[in-house]
Amino acid sequence: MKVYCPYCKKEVEYKIEKRDIKDFRGIEINTYENVAVCKECHQDLYVNEIEEKNNERIYELYREKAKIIKPQDIIDLREKYDISQRELTAILGFGKMTINRYERGGVPTKAQSDYIKLLIDNNDKFIEKVKEAHKNGRINDKTYGKIVSEELNVNISKEQIQDNIRRYLKLVLNRRPDIYNGYKVLDIEKIENIVSYIASKVKNLTITSLNKYLWYIDMLSFKQRSVAITGLTYQNQKFGPTIIDKKYDELSLLDDKYIREDIETENGNTTKIISNGNYDLNKISYAEKEIIDTIIKTLKNKTVTDISELSHKEEGWKKTKRFERISFDYAMDLNIIK
Ligand SMILES: [Zn+2]
Repeated sequence: MKVYCPYCKKEVEYKIEKRDIKDFRGIEINTYENVAVCKECHQDLYVNEIEEKNNERIYELYREKAKIIKPQDIIDLREKYDISQRELTAILGFGKMTINRYERGGVPTKAQSDYIKLLIDNNDKFIEKVKEAHKNGRINDKTYGKIVSEELNVNISKEQIQDNIRRYLKLVLNRRPDIYNGYKVLDIEKIENIVSYIASKVKNLTITSLNKYLWYIDMLSFKQRSVAITGLTYQNQKFGPTIIDKKYDELSLLDDKYIREDIETENGNTTKIISNGNYDLNKISYAEKEIIDTIIKTLKNKTVTDISELSHKEEGWKKTKRFERISFDYAMDLNIIK
């Protein structure tokens, strides 16, 4: 086989030498490359198809060892949002043909690869990047709308679910003021803020103890002011007073202000309530907050079992049958706070 030698300045015969390649772009790959060598002057020669084969082998090893993203990963990202190579390049703020090159097999630097991978794995980060590109004029309204309106739909549907839970709770729990809701109209938004507030003050708040906190808060309020705070109705259950018909389950699913966390314990599963810390005390009057703080102070260092046992000593629980609603008339006999 002959090739032009720039040193001998003529077509020459060449031989192939195999040389070790220890690393590439700072990553250990331990492979070899084939080098064409002039048989006359022994200088290295450039032969296109030999170099291409070397590159292929080296790039493939490098991709694998450095965990570089694959062309298909980038194509998948574009297809997810239905955007062109040019749009993606603009969003990322890369040079003009960068994405085109990477999709055709060009190897990104480790830093660029890690950056793209982060955006593939983290939808929020990608959207953040899209917003930034739009703000800086790198992408137009059409591209922006295509990606972000889809994102908006996801948010709306989550909010709609939350609102539907609220609507459902109002439908099944709200009645005219009577002795079973402490002459108070149900206020879900207020309850959410109170739950978030209690959870922020009480370590290890579980669904079981939350029910007692709310019941005690409403009872104490009724005792002092002849009106409850939440408007919830409670019933007699095995472990003490609870929100009627187990509607605490739906209440715990409202996760704007707190989240529920199911954990396994030796005695089975427990559901913890953890505050998001974003409760709004403007929804609670000063007098109501005093009452809530009093109950928190009284119960916060007690275990769930202790709290259950305390509630079992209350007339409201003792004098009602299982599953019966608990009248706020019993507030006058409250034991926990004299
Ligand atoms: Zn030569």
